[in-house]
Amino acid sequence: MGLSEIKARIIAAAQAAGRDPASVQLIAVSKLQPEAQVRAALTEGQRLFGENYVQEAGAKWPALRAEFPGTQVHMIGPLQSNKARLAFSLFEAIHTLDRPSLADKIAHLAQEMGHCPQLFVQVNTGREPQKAGLLPEDLAPFLARLRAQDLRPEGLMCIPPEGEDSRPHFRALAALARDHGLPGLSMGMSGDFEAAIAEGATYVRVGSALFGARPPKGG
Ligand SMILES: *Cc1c(COP(=O)(O)O)cnc(C)c1O
Repeated sequence: MGLSEIKARIIAAAQAAGRDPASVQLIAVSKLQPEAQVRAALTEGQRLFGENYVQEAGAKWPALRAEFPGTQVHMIGPLQSNKARLAFSLFEAIHTLDRPSLADKIAHLAQEMGHCPQLFVQVNTGREPQKAGLLPEDLAPFLARLRAQDLRPEGLMCIPPEGEDSRPHFRALAALARDHGLPGLSMGMSGDFEAAIAEGATYVRVGSALFGARPPKGG
């Protein structure tokens, strides 16, 4: 599916929900995709991309950014604390702030550098033991901790459990964001971005529906 078709579906989903289509941003998830695909999207005018791996993003984006001004790259994969410094130089946003130790690291770097990427707190709405993110009941103290560190998150992010209806997870995340006065909602992927928009997503993260199936990592 091409960029224009995905954008048309985003606009239709926003309108069906009575929302302004401009309130939904498409993050084109370019992890592991061949550079030709990424260039094609840039040439068509897409300027917001998502990456999962710091090393891959560092190899790919500095040159492409120089060639395509206005490009923004968001980190949507798990972030190790020891890669946080590099992440500050590579990404305009981090969608996966998921633990106090990472918050400490980010707060320290923000002090040192005088700037901070936009932050989204990842919530484990499905309470999956293997999945990153705060449990919903741990969110309030975590947000208080961020405030005390002068970190101001834009919103919340979730990845619903595979094989489950995503919509109740999106709704739960939207309710948490509302409760905490956070405007941003990073939710919805190739298979469920329209449901996410219906529930209030401000960022949808779409990879395979846009670029085709990804080659396996390390492949
Ligand atoms: C890979 C990834 C996506 C994109 O997934 P698709 O199903 O290919 O759209 C979105 N969000 C996160 C966090 C991802 O890791």
